[in-house]
Amino acid sequence: VKYLVITGGTLSGLGKGTTISSLGVVLKSLGLRVTSIKIDPYLNIDAGTMSPYEHGEVYVLEDGGEVDLDLGNYERFLDITLTREHNITTGKIYQQVIEKERKGEYLGKTVQVVPHVTDAIQEWIERIAHLPVDRKKGPPDICLIEVGGTVGDIESSVYLEALQQFSFKVGLDNFCLCQVGFVPVMGVVGEQKTKPTQHSVRELRQAGLKPDFIFCRSEAPLGEAARHKIALFGQCPKDHVISVHDVSNIYHVPLMLEQQHVGPLICDRLHLHPRPLSPLAK
Ligand code: ADP
Repeated sequence: VKYLVITGGTLSGLGKGTTISSLGVVLKSLGLRVTSIKIDPYLNIDAGTMSPYEHGEVYVLEDGGEVDLDLGNYERFLDITLTREHNITTGKIYQQVIEKERKGEYLGKTVQVVPHVTDAIQEWIERIAHLPVDRKKGPPDICLIEVGGTVGDIESSVYLEALQQFSFKVGLDNFCLCQVGFVPVMGVVGEQKTKPTQHSVRELRQAGLKPDFIFCRSEAPLGEAARHKIALFGQCPKDHVISVHDVSNIYHVPLMLEQQHVGPLICDRLHLHPRPLSPLAK
């Protein structure tokens, strides 16, 4: 199983969930079997006790798991069936670690965020990523992992640390990081501003992670100057800077990604061998 992690910078509601689901559609069209995990860095065990005014409706999975709406996106976009364990929350991770501590399984050790919580996160991801979710046998080819919240939050820092360790554990050929950045326009005829994205990449670097792809959320398609600047500061090739501009219907996003050759670029990066089913667009 290869791992594709998506993080977001600057602000929430940027379209991380939409972007990663669309990415999954593109990868699936290349014949790859895709699964996904959503990480929610809050202390609630699940979304069942949370106000729908704050997070939107609770999405209920086939096993009864009450989870974030993003898992509904994954199921609809990718035609997969997820379980409650595909939604990691800080509440679930801590509950597991504390139960293990009470049973004495840490053998007298001081139980700490690093390494015990970070190990628990890595083990959870690895175990769940191998579960088939598409009614076929055997592990999927690629697991998409969305880290909720924004890079730089106190809550998500433990996940970034765990993922940083995980990238070395599974090897860089099996781990690809995508950052969704915000590219606003100032004024009516203003230019696209790359600074928020630059800063968010810097925050990722502080956590020991380097983005392989940068997805830019903007109102209009990303201009050449902005793309050049983001590639330069993000230290990634220009064709790894992807425009995810506003569209009237989010089901157009997979086509937008396909036109920018994201699928083959990700396959190259992860040494995956696509088996195209039918082209999305011609
Ligand atoms: P996040 O996971 O970052 O919180 P979501 O994927 O839930 O964000 O997206 C937030 C909102 O933005 C959703 O209502 C979604 O429909 C909308 N959205 C996301 N991407 C686009 C896009 N490219 N064009 C138009 N609307 C989008």
